[in-house]
Amino acid sequence: MYQIEHFINGEFVASGSGKRFEKRSPVDNKVVASISEGGQAEVDLAVAAAKNALNGEWAALSTNDRVELLHEVADEITRRFDDFVVAEMADTGQPSHVMRHAFIPRGAANFKIFADIVKNIPTEAFHMDTPDGLGALNYGVRSPKGVIGVIAPWNAPFLLMTWKVGPALACGNTVVVKPSEETPLTATLLGEVMNKVGVPKGVYNVVNGFGPESAGEFITRHKDVDAITFTGETRTGTAIMKAAAEGIRDVSFEMGGKNAGIVFADCNLNNAVDGIFRSSFLNTGQVCLGTERVYVERPIFDQFVAALKDKVESVTLGRPTDQGVNYGPLISQEHRKKVLAYYEKAREDGATIVTGGGVPDMPGDLAEGSWVQPTIWTDLPETSAVIQEEIFGPCCHIRPFDSEQEAIELANDSDYGLSTTIWTENLARAHRVAARVDVGITWVNSWFLRDLRTAFGGSKQSGIGREGGVHSLEFYTEMRNVCIKM
Ligand code: NAD
Repeated sequence: MYQIEHFINGEFVASGSGKRFEKRSPVDNKVVASISEGGQAEVDLAVAAAKNALNGEWAALSTNDRVELLHEVADEITRRFDDFVVAEMADTGQPSHVMRHAFIPRGAANFKIFADIVKNIPTEAFHMDTPDGLGALNYGVRSPKGVIGVIAPWNAPFLLMTWKVGPALACGNTVVVKPSEETPLTATLLGEVMNKVGVPKGVYNVVNGFGPESAGEFITRHKDVDAITFTGETRTGTAIMKAAAEGIRDVSFEMGGKNAGIVFADCNLNNAVDGIFRSSFLNTGQVCLGTERVYVERPIFDQFVAALKDKVESVTLGRPTDQGVNYGPLISQEHRKKVLAYYEKAREDGATIVTGGGVPDMPGDLAEGSWVQPTIWTDLPETSAVIQEEIFGPCCHIRPFDSEQEAIELANDSDYGLSTTIWTENLARAHRVAARVDVGITWVNSWFLRDLRTAFGGSKQSGIGREGGVHSLEFYTEMRNVCIKM
């Protein structure tokens, strides 16, 4: 069993209050970790350490030295790859191939890529005319924003946390991280990595705990936290935005989605079925970019539904380490209750259940885990909460459409605007539709193909701001203009 403490000023420390909480495995509900529960005192210590570190050894590093150190962080993650995989599997219960091929390598990449971006991206310079004819030169200088509060979710814990910590540190900031209470393990391991490669004390801090009236809220309310980057539910974002208003702190929000997949009759059907299968069911549907609403052009509707059903019914449920397992449980019993409530709601609202709709029979210990069947529905009205609200589970609703215009209107009929995936072999149509779907990220004939130099974020209630590439620098640095009169 893991014993998880806070990581403050380069040391692993328990809460002064002695308070702890337990983390249970999603697979069989057994306790996998005992975690120190942070309160105001631990947040105060962590923020003070982070503030102090802004002026010490860390600030004195040249950009080149900082970049090299972050490369070493990435290399050490790679050396300890198996430890990260095992920890993330214990937290999430997801199959090992998801950790090995996606979540952990991306965590390491988040340090390398942003270090390289900081080294290579120029700032702006403008020459201006002046009445005396001599002119003036303006140039931009980026400096770190300060102490960044990082509030992270549970669905891809290491990837999403490092997606923020990587650029924040690359830009010379210090961080206080609050991992999700569901998934504290890899943030703690990262503390060991930081010490091993010699990242100065206080640069990376972790306080464990919960959200409201706990470590999460205390970080977002702390006057010495200069900016807050958050990934999680839109409702939580609302609370954090209120906290950030005190002291006018900057926020970057990556929040929920109710993403549409649009499948045209002229698509490559096999690729579209594979793509929608992955986007709806990878990570047991717990992906913010995942597809919960699928719109399929009528001539191929029946064929598409049948093919997706076949794929869904071929998944293998089981322990993450077992050979051939490609589908895991939901993160917690509580989340399962939420997802099952939507399964019930779909029934009440008259859905046709194409497959799934309940809880699978799991053998032995696994029966105690938070398993749900992957589920496909048809025939729901668009007004149903199942179509309007983010479920964050392994499920999708499929509805036919008859024209491009109708598909666009259906896709846009949502309070969210995170991502969409469009399937067509008609390039002109792909461009037309991509331009009109109101989301931050559109994929054509693919899904989750991520180039970390590109803008990432959501429109409407899916987010505020963009991270990725130079956009991360916009958030994690303060751009100062220097104007020199010639
Ligand atoms: P959540 O909002 O419940 O929790 C996220 C984090 O916020 C946790 O660490 C939690 O403890 C903390 N928190 C909760 N209340 C808080 C408060 N009042 N003040 C400060 N911190 C608080 O989200 P979750 O359930 O962990 O994650 C799933 C959600 O995240 C889904 O809605 C999903 O769409 C979204 N998500 C979005 C993206 C994206 O890039 N847009 C990526 C992944 C997940």
